[in-house]
Amino acid sequence: MLIGVPREIASGERRVALVPEVVPQLSRVGHRVVIEHDAGLRAGFTDDAYGSAGCDIVDSAHDVYSTAQMLLKVQRPGREESSGEAELDMLREGTVLIGLLQPSGDPALFQQLAERKIIACSMELVPRTTRAQMMDALSSQSTVAGYKAVLLAANALQKFFPMLMTAAGTVRPARVLVIGAGVAGLQAIATARRIGAVVEAFDTRPAVKEQVKSLGATFVELDVHLEDAQDAGGYAKELSERHIRREKELIHNRALQADVIITTALVPGKPAPMLVSAETVRAMRPGSVIVDLAGEQGGNCELSVPGETVVRYDVTIIAPLHISSDLAFHASQMYAKNVAALVTLLAPKGELNLNFKDDIIDAVVITTNGEVRHEPTRRRLGMSPLKTAEVAR
Ligand code: NAD
Repeated sequence: MLIGVPREIASGERRVALVPEVVPQLSRVGHRVVIEHDAGLRAGFTDDAYGSAGCDIVDSAHDVYSTAQMLLKVQRPGREESSGEAELDMLREGTVLIGLLQPSGDPALFQQLAERKIIACSMELVPRTTRAQMMDALSSQSTVAGYKAVLLAANALQKFFPMLMTAAGTVRPARVLVIGAGVAGLQAIATARRIGAVVEAFDTRPAVKEQVKSLGATFVELDVHLEDAQDAGGYAKELSERHIRREKELIHNRALQADVIITTALVPGKPAPMLVSAETVRAMRPGSVIVDLAGEQGGNCELSVPGETVVRYDVTIIAPLHISSDLAFHASQMYAKNVAALVTLLAPKGELNLNFKDDIIDAVVITTNGEVRHEPTRRRLGMSPLKTAEVAR
């Protein structure tokens, strides 16, 4: 297939969906790649590097959209600020679109993609199974986010992270509280430990206790039973009001000792749980730092302003959006490997083979044959469920 890679146009987005080192993996199975001039530059990948890897470099996004049969993107289609041109309008009927399409974002996009007969594949819908690990972009980008959150915190904190014994006296290590120990939280714990902080972590899923301890952090216990905390897929369930109240008390008490709080708590399909209250921020030591990684889902801290850094009660609260884009080189490299693995599954011999009996393909394809086939999106669009036979044609 002819695979196209346009430059990302979303504000602040530096990542690119394909990096040169991954191109041979696609060429080997018969694909060709066309990439927009300077598409990878903001992530550190030059046109020369893409050229040497065998890509055709073209001048404009138009040249990519008008020829590609499969389009690789990071962000969902948007509108170019300067020209006002919509990426959606450039997509040709029958194109396969792969990206972080935000399946829980505005569902109208998927209706439009279906109407244009686009085969849209959402990287967020890759199942969290062993077989799909190579394609798990949520995990790769969360790894970047967890790492970068610690660096942002360390940069904003007016204290050392490690313990230091100097002629000018002994410096005590910083104390970091990580709330939510999924992929991002575990990477935040590991990174904070690596630079010498004393780390406590907290998650409603008791299953993560051993992972937290193995990274050298203390697991803060809340007596939630496993069946109340976690669904069959291993994701967190929304807690009862009573549990959330107890959790907030616990976090309040731990926050009094913390120099840094990193929050990563998410519940699939729901707004992020509000766990750090304004009262807790007010009670924290002046100069403390909160990095709220749940900003894209509304935030875990009552005083977070998604996309901004604010100072409230002498506490710096950072709630970055698209934080993975700040580490664009490695975030792109990991994302490109995830995407290339999915492309190889969808088109193993250079031709598209949409076998919906494959659980990964069945999960990721949101629109095909002019229909929205992802049931949660259909529900949000007020559509009736599709019958299995209709979906898999
Ligand atoms: P996530 O981003 O959905 O959520 C982040 C963390 O927040 C989770 O650990 C969750 O338990 C926690 N959380 C939710 N509500 C909370 C609350 N009120 N207080 C404190 N913490 C709260 O999680 P994720 O990183 O995407 O991981 C989700 C699941 O997927 C985990 O079970 C993980 O082990 C699993 N996973 C499996 C694979 C695989 O098998 N290939 C890969 C990655 C993740």
